[in-house]
Amino acid sequence: MADQTYQRINKLTERLLGGGKMSVEEGGWMIRLADQYLSSLMAGADRLRRTFRGNDIEACAISNIRSGNCSEDCTFCSQSAHHDGQAPTYNYIPVENVATQARKARSWGTTDLGIVSKGWGVRSDKEREQMREYLNALKGSSDIGRCASVGVLDKETAIDLKNMGLENYHHNLETAESFFSNICTTHSFQENIDTLKHARDAGLKVCSGGILGMGENLDQRVELAETLRDLEIDSVPLNFLVPQKGTPLENITPMAPMEILKTIAVYRFMLPQAEIRIAGGRPFLRDLQSMVFMAGASAVMIGDYLTTNGRQVEDDLQMLKDLGVVVRGDTQKRRKSVCSNAA
Ligand code: SF4
Repeated sequence: MADQTYQRINKLTERLLGGGKMSVEEGGWMIRLADQYLSSLMAGADRLRRTFRGNDIEACAISNIRSGNCSEDCTFCSQSAHHDGQAPTYNYIPVENVATQARKARSWGTTDLGIVSKGWGVRSDKEREQMREYLNALKGSSDIGRCASVGVLDKETAIDLKNMGLENYHHNLETAESFFSNICTTHSFQENIDTLKHARDAGLKVCSGGILGMGENLDQRVELAETLRDLEIDSVPLNFLVPQKGTPLENITPMAPMEILKTIAVYRFMLPQAEIRIAGGRPFLRDLQSMVFMAGASAVMIGDYLTTNGRQVEDDLQMLKDLGVVVRGDTQKRRKSVCSNAA
């Protein structure tokens, strides 16, 4: 039985290396494998990562330009006005702060800085002007890639942002469609998908993933991966829930380290050619943090996240050095290669 399982993992790896794909049923089988198979799974995931993305990894960072009092009711989020979360509340931070953050992030080797804002897109003229100022500041700061994550977008706003100089748009699907109503009721899963479409149609590269460990079942983790594959998302951030005090999910037990690694590996098998980017929740891996790359991750977000603190950047950079992994710092190359199918 054990031999057959190892053989099946190897066969799947070979099929994907040859350009094939893994079915949802196979994903469901894989995500249920016992921990004893994790090393074999990771060996396959590592081969896929090295073949399709190379051994270097990509790093990005974010700047939370406004926080708290959000109209949306996402159950995991401490910024929602619907819950009793503890996230700080502030309006737009000074433009100079974003430029400073961009220069700092670039000095770490990150290729992109994402400007992130709570809530529902950019609706008013004032919000549009503010976005223009931030994007001008990013352009003036360095050659760092210009990314934004400002919620649900309509077609016109996506075009406006592109014309302002935005390059990439990040918008997570958050979770599987079949679980989404448990996570958010103030906007729909379809609106998330439409947002990605509008961004892509406007000529922006798109980045979309989700948060795992919010109470979804194993099949729903695979379902999200399949949806991202169907949408041909090339840059997939994975977060692992950090339960936030005062939110409906505050008492959820965080995913265990081995479960996180297995999930990353399954995403690499489901999305063999994608940039799989590890973001929030890395601390739950404890001593196993450096193993995310062997499990198939090819990118990492460094610095602080939205409502949770990241690791010290120096520790992350040392970890990468110890692994012999180079951070791809070439923004021009990234502009040409990453998310190319989303262009
Ligand atoms: S995840 Fe975004 S949209 Fe949802 S409550 Fe938090 S800030 Fe608002």
